[in-house]
Amino acid sequence: MKVTVIGAGPAGSTAAFYLAKAGCEVDLVDRVDFPREKACAGGLFNPLLFEKEFPHIVGIEGRDLFRVRFSYGSCSFQPEAARPLLRTVIRKEFDRFLLECARKAGARFTVGTPSTKNGIVIRATGVRPPADYKSAGICMEYDFAAERDIDTIRVHYGFSGIKGYCWLYPKHGYANVGVGAYLPQKDIKDVFGRYIEHLEAEGIVIRKSQHHRASIIPFSPPKRPLGGESFGCGPPGVLIGDAAGFVRPGTGEGIYFAMCSGKAAARMVTEKKDEKWYQKECVRMFGRYLKSTVASLPPRLCNRVLGKAVKIGSKDQQFGKLLAEDFFRLGYHSLTGRFLVNLFR
Ligand SMILES: Cc1cc2nc3c(=O)[nH]c(=O)nc-3n(C[C@H](O)[C@H](O)[C@H](O)COP(=O)(O)OP(=O)(O)OC[C@H]3O[C@@H](n4cnc5c(N)ncnc54)[C@H](O)[C@@H]3O)c2cc1C
Repeated sequence: MKVTVIGAGPAGSTAAFYLAKAGCEVDLVDRVDFPREKACAGGLFNPLLFEKEFPHIVGIEGRDLFRVRFSYGSCSFQPEAARPLLRTVIRKEFDRFLLECARKAGARFTVGTPSTKNGIVIRATGVRPPADYKSAGICMEYDFAAERDIDTIRVHYGFSGIKGYCWLYPKHGYANVGVGAYLPQKDIKDVFGRYIEHLEAEGIVIRKSQHHRASIIPFSPPKRPLGGESFGCGPPGVLIGDAAGFVRPGTGEGIYFAMCSGKAAARMVTEKKDEKWYQKECVRMFGRYLKSTVASLPPRLCNRVLGKAVKIGSKDQQFGKLLAEDFFRLGYHSLTGRFLVNLFR
């Protein structure tokens, strides 16, 4: 069976890996050569779940983090987990590794534009313009030298009034700092600058450059239906990863869902299922995460609710722990009941 996968990010390389392993003739095409830069904080949320679903990434180089500091205004709390919340990786290297896995499994990688006129097409081309989604955000990030060894993730909700959060993800010897917010969001670059100043004032990072990487991030499926889209290079193809809008609103996490949808699309092809099956399989694999309590907040409510959640977390240790587990998908908790009980205390 001949399959063309367009885009060799985590979604495309994962689809190509599983297709090639199952004996398909796979053409994996990207418009740029690898390793390539991609705006991303490089955080694998709940890394043990990653390793369970994708055993070929076991042993990938990264830093496991067990503690997070949530803040809102001057209020904060710092829960710790027994299992890693996040593994930070170098995104450029991670993507190269996934592509290498696909090649070793037998996929043929080429740089350029796909020439396919027949066969099955899987489209993993990443995020599209914001107008293609009902809801989208913007994220900006960069790596900064750390003043000292930091082992605590930082998530600062509503910093400078944004509808979103600023983050700090420690890596080995440096940290990734970023900001993500729902669109429309004015002056994101100023907020990014102010957050770095805030971290510099605390003696956490040192700014050596004014660089940043930025990208749109989808928070919903594209307005046009999932799959069944013709894109000028052959027959309709199924959409996976960011192209399908598989990012968790509220956290901006997308790598896990990109890889899961790539795996599901590969199964759809090799087991001769249809697109309805593919959609159901995506819902089964990760649908609950895209809809969980904190992630599904409407943008106009997010700061008010998250501000309250941080206040509650600073007083109620158990609630704080559940909030961290929900954010990093360690558990799937219903926080609503506990949240309401606390509100009326
Ligand atoms: C600032 C920022 C920080 C983020 N941080 C995190 C994080 O810490 N953790 C997390 O889980 N998620 C994070 N995300 C989200 C995550 O980066 C994406 O969800 C993920 O990259 C999606 O993978 P993908 O394979 O669908 O797309 P991509 O990784 O974007 O790959 C798409 C590929 O398709 C290629 N392509 C595009 N068009 C064509 C074409 N016409 N022909 C051929 N090739 C084409 C591109 O060159 C690219 O290589 C972040 C996003 C942003 C913007």
